[in-house]
Amino acid sequence: MNTKNLKLNTICTHIGEVADNVYKGAVSPIYTSTSYAYENIDEKRYPRYFNTPNQQALAKKLAALEHAEAALIFGSGMAAVSTSLLAFLGAGDHVVLQKVLYGGTYNFVVEELERFGIEYSFTEGLSKNDFEKAIKSNTKVIFVETPSNPLLSITDLKMVASLAKKHQLVSMIDNTFASPVNQNPIDFGIDVVIHSATKYLGGHSDILAGAVCASEENIEKIFSLGKNLGGNLSDYTVWLLERSIKTLGIRVKAQNRNAKKLAKYFSKNEAIAKVYYPGLKTHPDYELAREQMNGFGGMVSFELKGDIDPLQFTNALELIKPSMSLAGVESTIVSPTKTSHALLTAEERAHQGINDCLLRLSVGIEDKRDLIADFEQAISKVKANSILI
Ligand SMILES: *Cc1c(COP(=O)(O)O)cnc(C)c1O
Repeated sequence: MNTKNLKLNTICTHIGEVADNVYKGAVSPIYTSTSYAYENIDEKRYPRYFNTPNQQALAKKLAALEHAEAALIFGSGMAAVSTSLLAFLGAGDHVVLQKVLYGGTYNFVVEELERFGIEYSFTEGLSKNDFEKAIKSNTKVIFVETPSNPLLSITDLKMVASLAKKHQLVSMIDNTFASPVNQNPIDFGIDVVIHSATKYLGGHSDILAGAVCASEENIEKIFSLGKNLGGNLSDYTVWLLERSIKTLGIRVKAQNRNAKKLAKYFSKNEAIAKVYYPGLKTHPDYELAREQMNGFGGMVSFELKGDIDPLQFTNALELIKPSMSLAGVESTIVSPTKTSHALLTAEERAHQGINDCLLRLSVGIEDKRDLIADFEQAISKVKANSILI
């Protein structure tokens, strides 16, 4: 069978399975060995070399999902981000990063790069001009994240890929928020696709992992640094991640549907001042999102009106739990000013359009009617309380 043309859910379920030739079991056996007899001294199998049977099997599945030639699985999303960046940057080089980034990536850049002699610039905005202005003669890498956290702005992938070609840069994307179900950046010419597998790929809030997908050549570069840094994932967790990804397609599609329904519900709700969802026609990047995404994702942000206290509101929710992380099958909510963006100054937050009334919802797979009912009861509860006071 030609596995090249398999569709999403078939890739999720089957690609990269480790055959159980002895017992004919339905799922991949786990290989936990740290010692493998070698036939050739140059082909040693060892977990830190990213080449155990389970690692190789999962890498195959991820590469297929991202339309890439190859992939590597890491112990965390940040191991994937940091190893990828350092693999292409050395002393005297410069990296351009988009303005709004995941907090951990931002921290890695501002806290670590300088002592390796690596320069960096953040763009002013997300336009071609903003990126072009930041590119210098020693720039080697351009790094983007789309949709962005928490306002879900969209960066133009074709534009970034063409700038990278023109200036001979390696283009990298953190594709965590979209997941491979909703966005395949390699199709638009992006070189390196990074995931925090802790989020949609894992999907059940019980795995910390990362992944990088790229051409054989770029993966080889990331591998040669990765084996020295030692950021591989344990084979037990690799196996669990393989299992989780079997349902990635159906989970993310359910999350897309729920998120769209909730975004529409929020748009009509009197207690809500503003909704951010790239699948709403009112979103400034709606057309761009339609062009480069297969679905609009499971993240929705919104601003409550001034008379509703966001903390009281979050506490009044019963089904939807406050949580820092995202992308699990359960819906969670978070205040970006209190968490991911707490380290920025109030001025910088205001510049990015993030205020205290903003909440970011990670939509799960629950029945949308129950999620809406939870919002309704929380809004009524908070309103009733404020009348009593
Ligand atoms: C969570 C996250 C990361 C970091 O992943 P870890 O698995 O926590 O190391 C990177 N990028 C984005 C967009 C994330 O949401």
